[in-house]
Amino acid sequence: METGWIEALQAKMGEKMISSRSDLDTYSYDAAFGEFFPEAVVYVTNTEAVSEVLKIANEYKVSVTPRGLGTGLSGGDLPVHGGITLDMTQWPASVEVFPNDLVARVSPGTLTSEIHAEAEKHGLMYPPDPSSSNISTIGGNLAENAGGPRGLKYGVTKDYVLGLEVVTPEGEIMHTGGHTIKNVTGLDLTKLMVGSEGILGMITGATLKLIPKPAAAQTVMAAFSTMEVAGQAVSKTLTSGILPAKMEFIDQACAQAVEKYEPLGLPTNVEAIVLVELDGHPTAVQEEAEAVSKIMKELGGTNISQPQTKEDALNMWKARRLVSPATANIKPTRASEDATVPRSQIPAMMARLAEIREKYDLLLVVFGHAGDGNLHPNILCDDRDPEEIERVKQAIEEIFQSALELGGTLSGEHGIGTMKSPFLEKELGPVGVDMMKRIKQSWDPNNIMNPGKIFPDKGQRLILSRAVERE
Ligand SMILES: Cc1cc2nc3c(=O)[nH]c(=O)nc-3n(C[C@H](O)[C@H](O)[C@H](O)COP(=O)(O)OP(=O)(O)OC[C@H]3O[C@@H](n4cnc5c(N)ncnc54)[C@H](O)[C@@H]3O)c2cc1C
Repeated sequence: METGWIEALQAKMGEKMISSRSDLDTYSYDAAFGEFFPEAVVYVTNTEAVSEVLKIANEYKVSVTPRGLGTGLSGGDLPVHGGITLDMTQWPASVEVFPNDLVARVSPGTLTSEIHAEAEKHGLMYPPDPSSSNISTIGGNLAENAGGPRGLKYGVTKDYVLGLEVVTPEGEIMHTGGHTIKNVTGLDLTKLMVGSEGILGMITGATLKLIPKPAAAQTVMAAFSTMEVAGQAVSKTLTSGILPAKMEFIDQACAQAVEKYEPLGLPTNVEAIVLVELDGHPTAVQEEAEAVSKIMKELGGTNISQPQTKEDALNMWKARRLVSPATANIKPTRASEDATVPRSQIPAMMARLAEIREKYDLLLVVFGHAGDGNLHPNILCDDRDPEEIERVKQAIEEIFQSALELGGTLSGEHGIGTMKSPFLEKELGPVGVDMMKRIKQSWDPNNIMNPGKIFPDKGQRLILSRAVERE
């Protein structure tokens, strides 16, 4: 980093920049762990401003950390090398729907839920639906390749991105892809950018694919006395010729936490609850809801219900969305993982998680997207207790190891960031990591974009508190 950059940036950005220590506090953390202060925060509201900031940063070799709404769960927003945080949240929200093309053009600071609402006005749907859709930006979703409950049937963010506007680390403005559904011109830089966690450039606009909104939807809820049988119910449904839009799983501790947080009628005396949503043509949806209810019953499911009003259905899904805030209330610290396994391995992964809970004597709760194998084991703990945190670290390492041994991945949707980077090579191997590093090096020769993410810094350990540990 060369001196003089703060002055150069101040001269260009004026009141759009802050650098006093007290103002920077808000930018020193995100929804994951660790505390790292930027040296300046710049509020950008248009592409040209992003370009100017990156040109200065590249000239002076200053780190730049893009920031949406800070809900990321892998530490992507943390300015681990200081420098500039580029705040995208003041950028005016904009969703321009082109109904005849079934696409929407959006600005980076737009809330995902605003895109859902605008698409629906045209009878269309933007399927990716992270549970954080009311509190996260599309820029953050694109950078993390966010998923969500509808991923089972409709896929994740990358499946709906047709084109991007990107500012490169050298400050050049670039357009990838376009407005068409098909496009095979050149290398697919759109796909490379989606999920790149802010290490390859700033996303300043996107063209998204929309689909017709399904005419009907029906929710089915069932409770099970054991996790194993709940896993079997998921497998049996998925091999029965029915593809639900969503298939979610909540364990007993999560259900109890939700009912304490806001009573919504979840059964709390069972080990597992499976929530299913079918969507499509009204007649097909009804038939499928009956078939799913039958499968659940045959496997010993209880409390099987199909809400008859939209409000009741929304309440059931609200209960699922409240699992995160409700469990966060139980203990001061929550380590939220998203290890993902092939669907056939869900019962095996559930068994491994039960063993890990016993072995390390931890409050390990599980919920998540059972239909696509993306479980969310959450360890509720207290980061002021070093002995407990040591057990949590070992447990998390074992969760990662189990997912990989079962043919899965470290992250289904939260990204690698700082949280999982020490484990990257375990999944990708040295050659895979090296190829990724070479891509990063050629895009960003001065390593200014979000350094310290995806690839671990030397000696980096799992971070599980705001106070940072380095060896
Ligand atoms: C309660 C809760 C529920 C959640 N549920 C889900 C879920 O169901 N599915 C899921 O996938 N995730 C979920 N998440 C995680 C999180 O919401 C997503 O990762 C989301 O995409 C982050 O968006 P954000 O605007 O908060 O981005 P941030 O957290 O601010 O940033 C995330 C990453 O994107 C980069 N970035 C942000 N904007 C840009 C940009 N314009 N250009 C380049 N890089 C950028 C940042 O540098 C960082 O690396 C949840 C989080 C919470 C707290």
